[in-house]
Amino acid sequence: MRFLSLKCVHPHSSSPHASFGPSSSPLLAMQYLQFLTAVLALAPGILASPKPPAPAKDANPYVGVEPYANKGYAKKLEETIKYFNKEKDYVNAGRTRTVQKVPTFAWVSDTAGIASIKPLIKEALDAQKRTGKKQLLQIVVYNLPERDCSAKASDGEFHLADDGLNKYKKYIDGKASILDEHVNKLTEVPSLAVAAELSTVDAMKLQFTILLEPDSLGNLVTNLGVEKCAKAADAYKEGTSYAIAKLQRNNIALYLDAAHGGWLGWNDNLAPAAKVFAEVLEGAKVVNPTAKVRGLAINVSNYNQYVSAVRENYTEWNNSWDEYHYVESLTPHLMEAGYPAHFIVDQGRSGKGGIRTSWGQWCNIRNAGFGTRPTADQKVLNNTNVDAIVWVKPGGESDGTSDETAVRFDENCRSEVAHVPAPEAGQWFNDFVVNLVKNADPPLKVSLF
Ligand code: BGC
Repeated sequence: MRFLSLKCVHPHSSSPHASFGPSSSPLLAMQYLQFLTAVLALAPGILASPKPPAPAKDANPYVGVEPYANKGYAKKLEETIKYFNKEKDYVNAGRTRTVQKVPTFAWVSDTAGIASIKPLIKEALDAQKRTGKKQLLQIVVYNLPERDCSAKASDGEFHLADDGLNKYKKYIDGKASILDEHVNKLTEVPSLAVAAELSTVDAMKLQFTILLEPDSLGNLVTNLGVEKCAKAADAYKEGTSYAIAKLQRNNIALYLDAAHGGWLGWNDNLAPAAKVFAEVLEGAKVVNPTAKVRGLAINVSNYNQYVSAVRENYTEWNNSWDEYHYVESLTPHLMEAGYPAHFIVDQGRSGKGGIRTSWGQWCNIRNAGFGTRPTADQKVLNNTNVDAIVWVKPGGESDGTSDETAVRFDENCRSEVAHVPAPEAGQWFNDFVVNLVKNADPPLKVSLF
């Protein structure tokens, strides 16, 4: 994770030049009768003219659903509960049990991760049956070729030199050729891929939020000076457009990643950022003309607060000094570019301010705390462009290794505010989550079960 027409056609009013009634002449009368007959023949069709299309659904996907708290994350937290129990810190053990009930995003960060979608859907369906409440499954799709191009900690499995863009497309919407024995011909069927997993009968019974590719488009706005980003730019755009085009379902709301206020929120970056998002959406429409997105996700895996109680010194000169202000700054530019201005805001690890000395610090910030609990309540959000506060990065999974000898070592993971030692990105980091629990703001309730 890095910082830094229906055309409005007016009916022609072709006014008749002559009077056109039965009295004019026998010939005209005949024509009139023929005309009447023709009109009457058409009448049933006219009377039963199709209803106007239903208005486009433009509702907040977080309203009227229950975001699902996945069991995989809850299971990882067992280690933390065990730790607190061993320390006889039963209060924090109980607080960690509360975290187990908070909905977080599941990350599908490689091909192997596709296999986790089916069981996740099954779990969420069980919860739906048990609670009678529509479950919203939240998933991050994170696997573009040359991933994490301006940093090193989260380099992924696909690379351009190795046909990475095509492999990514297959990961999104792969097809396999099978022999149809009836006609003795090869036919294409969906293979193990994100789109296929989201199209099963079970998947259709749930709601989904899919967040596409954290950090990627942000890098195209500010980091084209980095060789890896410049080389990956076209693939990032094409891959993201493809993912949008292929993940169109009525029960899926798509959000692209828009980094955060300290990155794209600077005045000079706002319009270029909006332009990139709009361009990628247009690219999706080339593949699938009906493609649409819900909006943008911000602050993913970062540590900015939605509303900063105290403005951080390093935000001086930036109007987007917290994520609330970032939403305000970016919205008019999105409207101008033609990209929907709806936001979800990651607050998973943003409970505590004052823990960084510069905005560029993004890796495993020591003493971070769990943040505002996920909610779509406008009393908390106070901005109708914001759909929800969410927890995207599962607190406790590392941002990157602090091992200087590791291939994916990034020096940000040894910054003066980084929690060291830290395991590889995505690995469970128990010492870190212990702090997240203790420093949570608002404080976590103590759960007995
Ligand atoms: C890692 C992914 C991981 C994700 C969520 C990223 O930084 O690269 O492997 O799934 O964080 O923890």
